[in-house]
Amino acid sequence: MRNPSAARQRRPAAKADKTGGQLVGRAPLAVLEREAAGCTRCPLYKNATQTVFGEGPQDAVLVFVGEQPGDREDRAGKPFVGPAGALLDRALAEAGIARSKVYVTNAVKHFKYQPRGKRRIHQKPNAGEVRACKWWLDRELAAIRPALVVALGATAAQSLAGHTIPIMKNRGPVDFPGHAGFITVHPSSLLRVPEQDRKAEAYEAFVADLRRIRRMLKTEDAAA
Ligand code: SF4
Repeated sequence: MRNPSAARQRRPAAKADKTGGQLVGRAPLAVLEREAAGCTRCPLYKNATQTVFGEGPQDAVLVFVGEQPGDREDRAGKPFVGPAGALLDRALAEAGIARSKVYVTNAVKHFKYQPRGKRRIHQKPNAGEVRACKWWLDRELAAIRPALVVALGATAAQSLAGHTIPIMKNRGPVDFPGHAGFITVHPSSLLRVPEQDRKAEAYEAFVADLRRIRRMLKTEDAAA
C-alpha cells in the first residue's frame, strides 16, 4: 500500500498520466466542468436534467467518489446534496474531516433512472456507462492529484479499479491504478439498513473508516 502523502509529493505537477491509451492532462476543473456539460459519450445524457460534475477545491488532498447523482442531485446540479449527502456530511464532521476541503464526485455524472408514475427510480449504471464516464473521473483526478481517492461503494470501486471488486472483502486501503485508494460503503447503503441497531452499527463502522482515512493522510490539510 503506497503512502498517500508521498504519492502526492512524488507526482510531478506538469506530467500527464496515461489512461486507456489517452494522455490525461491537467485542465482546470472549471474547464472540465464546462466541457462535461455537453457530454454525449454514453446514452445517459438523454433523460437526465444535467451533468452533475464534482465539487470541491482543486488542491483537495482527499477525493470521494460515489456512484451517480440521485434525483435531488440531478435537479440541483450538485453532487451529494440529497439524504446520502447529508449522512456523508455528518459522518465527515464526526471524523474531523472538513467537507469544504475535500472534493466529492461520482463515477457516473448523469442520473440513470426508471420513471414510475411521478417518481424516478434509481437504476444502477452498467459497465459500459461506468467505463464511458471514467474519461471524466480520470480528468478530475489528474487536475486535483489527491493524496487519497476514496471509493464509496461498488460502482466507484469498479470504476477506479477498472474491474468489479467485492467491496466488503476489500474494504480499507487499496492501490487503484495510479492512485492510493480506500474502499468503503456508499452512505446510501446505510440509509437502507432496516433495523435501528444494525443501522447504528453500520454508521459507526463508516465513521471509523473516515477516521482511519484521516489518520492515513498524516496531514492537517483535510482536517477541520
Ligand atoms: S454519464 Fe458520463 S459519459 Fe455518459 S453522457 Fe453523462 S457525463 Fe457523459
